[in-house]
Amino acid sequence: MLPVCETSRIVQYLTDESNAFVASPETVSGVFFPESEAELIDILRSSEEPVTVSGAGTGLTGARVPMLGGTVISTERMRRTVDNGTGISLERDSPAGAVRIHLDESRQHARVAPGITLAELDTVLPKDLSYGPDPTERLASLGGTVATNASGARCFYFGPTRSWIDGLRVVLADGDVLVLRRGACAADRDGMLRFRSESGKEYCVKIPNYRMPQVKNAAGLYSKDGMDLIDLFIGSEGILGIFSEITVKLQPAESDIVADLAFFRSEADAQEAVGRLRAVKERGILAIEYFNGNALDFIRDQYPEMPHNARAAVLAELKSDGLKNMDFLADLLKKHGVLEDWCANNPFDRRKMKEFRHSLPDSINSFLKQHDSHKLATDIAVPVAEFPAMMDRYAETGCRFAEKYPREGKHWVLYGHVGDCHAHFNFITASEDERRFARTLIAELAEFAVSVGGTLSAEHGVGKKTLLIGGKNVPYLQLMYGVSGLREIARVKKALDPGTRLNAGNMVPGNY
Ligand SMILES: Cc1cc2nc3c(=O)[nH]c(=O)nc-3n(C[C@H](O)[C@H](O)[C@H](O)COP(=O)(O)OP(=O)(O)OC[C@H]3O[C@@H](n4cnc5c(N)ncnc54)[C@H](O)[C@@H]3O)c2cc1C
Repeated sequence: MLPVCETSRIVQYLTDESNAFVASPETVSGVFFPESEAELIDILRSSEEPVTVSGAGTGLTGARVPMLGGTVISTERMRRTVDNGTGISLERDSPAGAVRIHLDESRQHARVAPGITLAELDTVLPKDLSYGPDPTERLASLGGTVATNASGARCFYFGPTRSWIDGLRVVLADGDVLVLRRGACAADRDGMLRFRSESGKEYCVKIPNYRMPQVKNAAGLYSKDGMDLIDLFIGSEGILGIFSEITVKLQPAESDIVADLAFFRSEADAQEAVGRLRAVKERGILAIEYFNGNALDFIRDQYPEMPHNARAAVLAELKSDGLKNMDFLADLLKKHGVLEDWCANNPFDRRKMKEFRHSLPDSINSFLKQHDSHKLATDIAVPVAEFPAMMDRYAETGCRFAEKYPREGKHWVLYGHVGDCHAHFNFITASEDERRFARTLIAELAEFAVSVGGTLSAEHGVGKKTLLIGGKNVPYLQLMYGVSGLREIARVKKALDPGTRLNAGNMVPGNY
């Protein structure tokens, strides 16, 4: 298979939605568009060039950006699973090309090709089945979401992508294929994972020896005593292999979900309501999302019906449980001085509520692009006991930034998945000076989060992100796991990709 080499096509693969990393077109020799695993293997075996894997390009960490040059392999045409005689084939036409998945007879799993998007999976699944993870960006590819262990609002209740993956076919850098099933291979007492590829080649990999933080986490290769081999690959940001097929778990679609968007006159009122809701998760609280006053102001033009005095909002999704939970919620909101709430109890209104949530990151990303700026945001999660202190740090940081650069317009916005003590602090910068200062403030927030047992990436992965500390660019994972942690990741990578061909620069920059 030949790559596409026109510069006009190549440039579409030189950045991602972060807009913070841009590769040079001269260093990229072409983009391959395999449609099947066989074509993918063929591409990998036909050259020894460095390869960067691209999903849908919605990532926010530069992970799919070929900063070191070489070739790009886009999975966007890998849209149809192979008919291997098992499962029911479900097909749907789409402007991007037909989609085909295979549903197993018990309807608890589906085999899915890596290039289809989350939105396409929703449309091809029968209406009474659903896939749990709900990252806000529905145009992300399945492969990309597995590679980043993506999360969404409902991951508060249903867990991140990792909890929903039961099988993977992985093509290694040399074209060898691993067929991974959850439960088939676990690390032994010495932390060794021993397995064979489809061709019979034997592998023995010792898991990384660092301890991961005990919070929602998507930073670095997974490591845990007795861990499953498949978990090493989920969240591996394409540095170990390329997913050619993914087996996802399914669940009956929830029919009695209610979404409630409550507006508060102060951030303190909203945060107290969040704490109360988080504590009663077992009642069926699926998601707790937060918007601070600046975040509401950012989308106020699109939603003029918002109460004018609202300075924070909480979007909760919950099982109505025969309306019992609705009475409970109404009572809770009243106690915390809610100004007004919008309730959605049918699919159409719930979609509108999701659009409200989605409109915020979308508007921020478009605003930054239009103003020739780029994303400078956190993806931090901390333990529950530390979350109030983290929220105070965010507020102080925002004030310091605004005081140092007085001007028109918003300086910062805070929103996110606060059920999991996970918020995105976004700087809205207007100059290089501001961006430099913002980076030192992000490093301070990161140092605090790590010191209290948190993570720097709860859902986006780390890609090529660095922190500006003492005038130097320090890799995200160095702050979390030290230089020895970077070496551990490099060691695992070399066991599966000895030539360091795949996605070099993700997680671990340079030579370790
Ligand atoms: C508006 C907006 C909202 C967002 N909201 C969320 C959110 O709620 N939760 C969340 O987690 N993220 C969110 N994101 C980030 C982004 O959507 C996710 O990181 C997503 O998982 C990236 O998927 P992608 O297909 O776009 O991957 P890309 O950006 O193309 O690539 C991401 C990584 O996956 C690797 N990869 C892609 N396909 C494969 C494959 N088949 N095999 C191996 N590696 C592969 C790439 O090499 C790269 O390392 C948001 C982004 C935007 C723009």
